[in-house]
Order: sequence, then structure tokens, then C-alpha cells
Amino acid sequence: MLIKFLDLQKINATYSDELKLAASEVIDSGWFLMGEKVKKFEKNLAAYISSSYAIGVGNGLDALRLILKGYIELGFLSEGDEVIVPANTYIASILAITDNKLKPVLVEPNNLTFNLDIDLIEKKITKRTKAIMIVHLYGQVCWSDSIKDLAKKHNLKIIEDNAQAFGAEYNGVKTGALGDAAGFSFYPGKNLGALGDAGAVTTNNHELAEVIRALGNYGSKKKYSNEYQGLNSRLDEIQAAFLNVKLKYIDIENQQRRDRAASYLKGIYNSEIMLPFPNNSSLKVEDNKEHVWHLFVIRHPKRNQLQDYLKNNGIETLIHYPIPANKQLAYKEMNELNFPITNSIHNEILSLPISPVMTNTEVAIVIEAINSFRY
Ligand SMILES: *Cc1c(COP(=O)(O)O)cnc(C)c1O
Repeated sequence: MLIKFLDLQKINATYSDELKLAASEVIDSGWFLMGEKVKKFEKNLAAYISSSYAIGVGNGLDALRLILKGYIELGFLSEGDEVIVPANTYIASILAITDNKLKPVLVEPNNLTFNLDIDLIEKKITKRTKAIMIVHLYGQVCWSDSIKDLAKKHNLKIIEDNAQAFGAEYNGVKTGALGDAAGFSFYPGKNLGALGDAGAVTTNNHELAEVIRALGNYGSKKKYSNEYQGLNSRLDEIQAAFLNVKLKYIDIENQQRRDRAASYLKGIYNSEIMLPFPNNSSLKVEDNKEHVWHLFVIRHPKRNQLQDYLKNNGIETLIHYPIPANKQLAYKEMNELNFPITNSIHNEILSLPISPVMTNTEVAIVIEAINSFRY
């Protein structure tokens, strides 16, 4: 028996009939871009997040690129301005910044939550700092009232990278409605996954929403009239149709993830393992909306041995992520920077299988294997 890291076939099979119907509606309509399905998804998404605007785009990276590009067009950002971003995020957050000729200022995460250490931000603020890109990493909200105060004090925009935390909330406010603008990814493996690339931006700022919508469509609001040097990054009708189906079930799926995370947290007792640390640890994991468990990430000093051992026991795991962005060849100029917490996280983390369709038996097998690991 093989326990897959993420069984996308099984996840989508749950909705197979509805997805096939949605696809055939789009095929039969003969209309594939900027049509009713996208409009409907944007409306559904804005309602779900409680944001004034939602704009469908091509993917999550583009969502973040377009937010920053939008702020450039509005005159809030200009070349060389600094954007604070966690050092241990997926590289896409940082690519969005450098793609716009802005400077990423990397900040270490908290060692327990893996999220940006809000207490370290203020020291990094300079005259050129214009924005903070928070990342709700692994599905856990990165937020506190102090980050809002800090942004206000220094006139910074807060941009949420909400690729991993669809449906999470802080005091009843959904991620995607906490900051000034948010980027979403509907990459197939994300909690709300399309059947291909897809993404979106949410914001309450009307001007920003208008600019982003134009920027994703060649910089044009009216056909053959171009106000900006834009790009082509639009959400396909067929992906929007799939997302309209899957959005109906996301709360159920996120609850199924919480239940599986709760089982892991109760069942794993191997003392060498460092378990994920939820915010609001007084709440039961099952009831704690600040986490949607996109990934269940543990730490172990002998991570590679543990991964091999699990593999030999038929359990697939992944590492999110093995190499920090600042150590990548793509960012030679940052290779010399040293972030000890980020480095140790990257050396020790391991993502266990977690998904809405994992069975109790599978969860029990993973727990048993981990508890019996010796090295
Ligand atoms: C997936 C992801 C992105 C990029 O989304 P794509 O749709 O793959 O472009 C950005 N940031 C984070 C944190 C992600 O996990």
C-alpha cells in the first residue's frame, strides 16, 4: 500500500459529475475568456472573502506581480522601493517583488509557527520601505494587530500572499481581507485547486482593482485602447467553472484537513519530532480557524533519514522547501545573506501527507510509522 502525499485524482473524483458538467457547459458555450463563468467566480470569491473586489488572473505568481505593478501604476511604489517578505517563503513571493524591480528585504520567521516574525519587521524598515508581503505559510494565518499598527505608522501597504491559506480566518476575518490586497493561487495542489493554472486578487481598493484588471488584459480597459504596458494574465472560463464547483465544498474540505491535523497532533509522540505549532494553542485544533492545514510540517534533526524511512514504509512526503530563495542560483546577489532560523527550518522540515480524502487508516499508519522511527 502506498500513501500518496496528495491524491488529486481522488479529491477531484468526489466532484467528477459536477466538474464534467461545468466543462461541457463551457465547451458548448463557445466562450472561453472574460465571460460569465469568470464573472460568477469573481462574485463568489469576493462574497466568500468579504472583499469589495475579486479579479481572476492566470496564476498565483501573477496575482502578486499584478498587485505590485498596480501600486507602481498608481504611484505608490517605484523602482528600488523595498518590500519586506519572509525569508522562508516559497520563491514565488520574492519573484513577484524582483520582477517589478523592487527590492525584497528578507525577514526571519518565528521558529515555532514558521510565519514572519512580526517583532523583527520594524528594525528592517527604512525610508524606502513601502510594503510588507505577509505569507500565510502552510495554511496558517500570519497576522496580529501590531502588524496593522506598524503599517499605519510607517505608511506601508500590507500585501497578503494567500496562496496556501484559502478559507483561514483571524477573528472572523478571512485571509485575503486582512491586508490592502491579496494574491491567491488555485494551482491544482492548493486547498482550493483548479484543474490547471489559475489565480486571483482581492482588495477593497476600487482604483487598485481597476488597474489590476486592466494590467492583466494588456493594460486595456476598453478593447484596442491601452492605458498601461500590461501583460496577459487572465483566468480561463473553464477554470472559473471548475472553481465555482469546488468553492462550494472548500469549508468542508478545510474541516477535513483540520480533523486529520488534530489526529496527527494527538497521535505523534516521537520525542525527536517537533510538531507544527498552531496560533491560539488554547483552542482545539479541530475548531481553530486560523489554520487550514495546506501542509502538515514537522521537524526532525535527521530529516533525510526520516524521509527515507517513511518512503520505505510506503509513505510519500515532500519538503517545502529544501533550499531557501536567497540560496538559489537565481538570487546570486543574496547568496551571502545568512538567516540561521530559515536555514535550520529548511534543513529539518518534512511535510506529511494531508488532504480531505485521506482515510483514518492512512492517518493511523503514518502516525505509527513516525512513532516507531529510530536512527
Ligand atoms: C503556490 C504559491 C505561489 C504561486 O502560485 P502559482 O499559482 O503556482 O503561481 C505563491 N506563493 C506561495 C506561498 C505559494 O505557495
